Amino acid sequence: MTSSSAATSLTREVTVLQGVPVVPGVRYAPVIRPGRMPQVDELSAGPEVAEAQRPAEAGRFAAAAAAVAGRLKDRAAHATGAASEVLAATAMLAQDRAWLGAAEKRINQGEPAVRATVEAAAQFTDLFTQMGGLMAERVTDLRDIRDRVVAELSGLAEPGVPVPDVPSILCAEDLAPADTAGLDPERIIALATTLGGPTSHTAIIARQLGIPCVVAVTGLDAVAPGTPVLVDGTRGTVEVDPDPDHARAQVDSAAAAAAATANWAGPGATRDGHPVAVLANVQDGASARAATQVPAEGIGLFRTELCFLNRDTEPTVGEQTEIYTEVLDAFPGRKVVIRTLDAGSDKPLRFAGHAEEANPALGVRGIRIAAGNPDLLDNQLEAIAAAAARSAASPWVMAPMIATPEEARNFAERVRAHGLTPGVMIEIPAAALLADRILAHVDFLSIGTNDLAQYTMAADRMSAELATLTDPWQPGVLALVAMAANAGAAVGKPVGVCGEAAADPLLACVLAGLGVSSLSAASAAVRAVGATLSAVTLAQCREAADAVLRTASAAQARAAALAVLG
Ligand code: PEP
Ligand code: MG
Repeated sequence: MTSSSAATSLTREVTVLQGVPVVPGVRYAPVIRPGRMPQVDELSAGPEVAEAQRPAEAGRFAAAAAAVAGRLKDRAAHATGAASEVLAATAMLAQDRAWLGAAEKRINQGEPAVRATVEAAAQFTDLFTQMGGLMAERVTDLRDIRDRVVAELSGLAEPGVPVPDVPSILCAEDLAPADTAGLDPERIIALATTLGGPTSHTAIIARQLGIPCVVAVTGLDAVAPGTPVLVDGTRGTVEVDPDPDHARAQVDSAAAAAAATANWAGPGATRDGHPVAVLANVQDGASARAATQVPAEGIGLFRTELCFLNRDTEPTVGEQTEIYTEVLDAFPGRKVVIRTLDAGSDKPLRFAGHAEEANPALGVRGIRIAAGNPDLLDNQLEAIAAAAARSAASPWVMAPMIATPEEARNFAERVRAHGLTPGVMIEIPAAALLADRILAHVDFLSIGTNDLAQYTMAADRMSAELATLTDPWQPGVLALVAMAANAGAAVGKPVGVCGEAAADPLLACVLAGLGVSSLSAASAAVRAVGATLSAVTLAQCREAADAVLRTASAAQARAAALAVLG
């Protein structure tokens, strides 16, 4: 919805765009937008370069490649962890003598620089693919470099997410998880997208990075780069070109509100001492170490697939062991729940062998991939067991997308064979309905409310239009959460929530009232969740949970919880 509202100054009209709030926080800065991918085929058409102009054309190419490498190096210097290493390696590849030489040779034979860039890159991507293994991993990087050099030569904006000189707000139609994962929160201080739902993986990574984010913003496409905007990740609004004093006051007051929860130090419990562990959701060693900076008691969800989004080939057991060890080492002696690869749908992994499917969200994703590719799961379990031995840790291991007790039984058998503790995610309504029978095979459950909402409401979690249906406050979704929690309580096995519902402080209290034993959220949400829970009693949480289960809509459920919990 696009609306015009009177600004603080009577002489100014400010456009307020409405979207769906995802990561709280208020930021004011100019807009930047990702550059479009250049149409390399069209751009590489062109006549032969006259002999006299070839040295100049070669110089133009060398300058473009150097500019691209310089920008990548600069990004690497400002990023941390794996993102920094990837960017530094890509910068080096952009200056690799072999492919630069191949392009220069073509230019000296008369090819225009753009075509020479495209053909030299193709020559090396073919070679890397044939070599396989680690070299094959570089194919994507070289294609990325090719696109950047072609854009530079053609006077187009750099493709992908640009690196701004001043802190900026990234506005885009949508962002691939791989783009979002490499963002530097010091430079990209807020995100707003036209598409996407509140539980899309872009939103999840934004939450992980603690970058305020609003998705499904109608009218955002019309906001030009450079326009100052005020993004409110709590209300879900984007104010276009607001009064600067008003905008700065909003930023300051949000920062003061965040500071109010800053003193909560854990462990998670209601005011009257009922324990509910507050854990962190992480995606790699860097985010696990970041989680140690907030009072998280451990890790409730390690999304392992997010480590490998850029890989063309399966990571070796040794490579996986390194990464898992880093995560375990961040929380020595604490609970760490590792989820096996949840590839597919909006998180395809190139090495998982996904077939073309009409409905990938309903297709071969999550644990279903293991049926056609059993080594993928066994290699991962081997790596987790090796990391556990190396860190002297006892991680819990859970499978995504379990639909039947039989799948749970098979998974548990394979996990136990590696000496690890098995559990499963409850993300499919059938699994919630049969939670008691699933619990006969596994030691714990973890409810993924993002997919549980998607599948319960038959509404794509990526759809902006259906965002009210995928709202985890939907009482239909919460009724299934209650079933799973009750099944766990009946046999004394833990049932946690690791979907985005656990990051909403009010809903977290309702979940505690429904009987869940842990809440796992992005680090950025941990303090607010813990502080809110510590201000209410278990009886209030239970009363709110009962009230919510009697409602007929998400709006009514929120209102009912607010009436009890304040
Ligand atoms: C979920 O579905 O709630 C969940 C935690 O898994 P993901 O968001 O990674 O699909
Ligand atoms: Mg899921």
